[in-house]
Amino acid sequence: QSRLLFPLMALMRVGLDVQTSGALFARIFEYLDLRPRVTDKPDAITVEQAPGPLGLVEFRDVSFRYPDAADDSRPTLDGVSFRIEPGQFAAFVGPSGAGKTTVSYLVPRFYDAESGTVSFAGADVRDLTQDSLVSHIGIVSQETSLFHASIAENLRYAKPDATDEELQAAAIAANIHQTIVSFPDGYDTIVGERGYRLSGGEKQRIAIARVLLKDPAVLVLDEATSALDSISERVVQHALEAASAGRTTIAIAHRLSTVVDADVILVVDAGRIVERGAHADLISHGGIYARMHAEQRTGAV
Ligand code: ATP
Repeated sequence: QSRLLFPLMALMRVGLDVQTSGALFARIFEYLDLRPRVTDKPDAITVEQAPGPLGLVEFRDVSFRYPDAADDSRPTLDGVSFRIEPGQFAAFVGPSGAGKTTVSYLVPRFYDAESGTVSFAGADVRDLTQDSLVSHIGIVSQETSLFHASIAENLRYAKPDATDEELQAAAIAANIHQTIVSFPDGYDTIVGERGYRLSGGEKQRIAIARVLLKDPAVLVLDEATSALDSISERVVQHALEAASAGRTTIAIAHRLSTVVDADVILVVDAGRIVERGAHADLISHGGIYARMHAEQRTGAV
């Protein structure tokens, strides 16, 4: 159950910094009975007070096990280290269950590492207030949650004081404006549970518009595994390029075609980073990545 609820919770936690209608949050939390798993230290600082540049994300020898895992189980993450500089695009690839999504959960501190350090803007995330931390992180995940509310309200969730012009500009950049205006009530169309049904690609573009409104320093992009048709995929891809431009992006990639231009590709296998580098280096290295690439090209994956 926790596995299923988690992305929804993640999305909500990331929105906690915004002054969204208290009633809306009360309703959601009542419904899911979710409580934060981590608490702030009494002397926690904000990201603005952190010593390093905004957008710098670093893992130092991080090991992690889910709270419900058996004590003697293999860690989900095992000695993971990397440093993503502000504005870089880092892509995590690797087999299903390798731990890619788990890496992305530790950045907004949805869980604490068992050992090692996760740092954001040069500060250990355990020394930051979580509200401040998540206010600088945007997430576009496979399971975008839309509230039973209008599209405008769903977008404003990321920036409650956004003007109509700002909503529209974000929707245009996310390639969803034309779709929205074709709906029966445009931006006032009610979506979500029992509302107007959006396709996976449309929901993803709403999530991208939210990120553009929120304008975080770090974007976590959990690429959809579900097949979009090739036109929607291209449209989503362009929207993602707009969203990742100028900000640190941590992409969990399932299709290697989307990582070719990444500044750094990190190959995760069984909780460890087994290869890292730019596409061309990894191809010439002739290891796991090169093999995955060859398989995906021949359609074997
Ligand atoms: P995929 O490509 O399939 O999304 P992944 O590389 O992102 O896989 P993770 O989702 O990080 O892998 O999962 C790593 C391991 O942790 C898997 O064995 C998974 O079953 C386990 N796991 C993931 N989420 C939880 C959770 N909330 N509680 C317990 N175990 C979990």
